[in-house]
Amino acid sequence: MVAGSNPAEPTFEAKFPQKATDSFQKSHVLPEATEQLRREGKYKSFLISEWFNGNSEYFVTTLSKYAEEVFSSYHELESPDVSYIEESDKIEIEDIYKLEDDMLYIDAIAYADVVFSMFIYKPDFYLIEDEYLLDVQDYDWNEHYVWAEMILYLPIKFSLVFNILNEQVKEFEVNGFEEIFGWCKSCGAAVISDAAEVCYRCEKQLF
Ligand SMILES: [Zn+2]
Repeated sequence: MVAGSNPAEPTFEAKFPQKATDSFQKSHVLPEATEQLRREGKYKSFLISEWFNGNSEYFVTTLSKYAEEVFSSYHELESPDVSYIEESDKIEIEDIYKLEDDMLYIDAIAYADVVFSMFIYKPDFYLIEDEYLLDVQDYDWNEHYVWAEMILYLPIKFSLVFNILNEQVKEFEVNGFEEIFGWCKSCGAAVISDAAEVCYRCEKQLF
């Protein structure tokens, strides 16, 4: 189930070279499944949001390696790690491809509050404590560092292979976070466009 960690393994996407959009007319159930998944994020008993929330522990482990990228422009926030992911309240289906007859390959983005854990050098902390949405866990983690958490509402990319006959996910991969341009200092929502001036979630000014 884990892909991409071993360099000898093909990437998740490369394992499915036959993914192609042009053969849907072969079957009547596939267009129906595709349509419903796109529109409602579900197919019969399968609900993609429910599946995502049920697998959040796996997402926590895998997303930790992408945490550094989120904070790459914020050097005061050191050793960031993902400690928890809240339930997703919005899932966008990006693309659906047909694999063999009863299998769909789905690219999706889940929006969820992600709890990051991080350390801040004490002299830095007193300069930035009002600037970020820090929830201090321990002001005195050690002689030099404060331990804090920060909750950001982020787009999480993932792909899955879905069997429409048994309505089960056969395989999946977590693809990191969608590119962001910082976050709203009022509510923690990711800024997903470099042209945005107002937060799309709380509608406050971003700058
Ligand atoms: Zn906001």
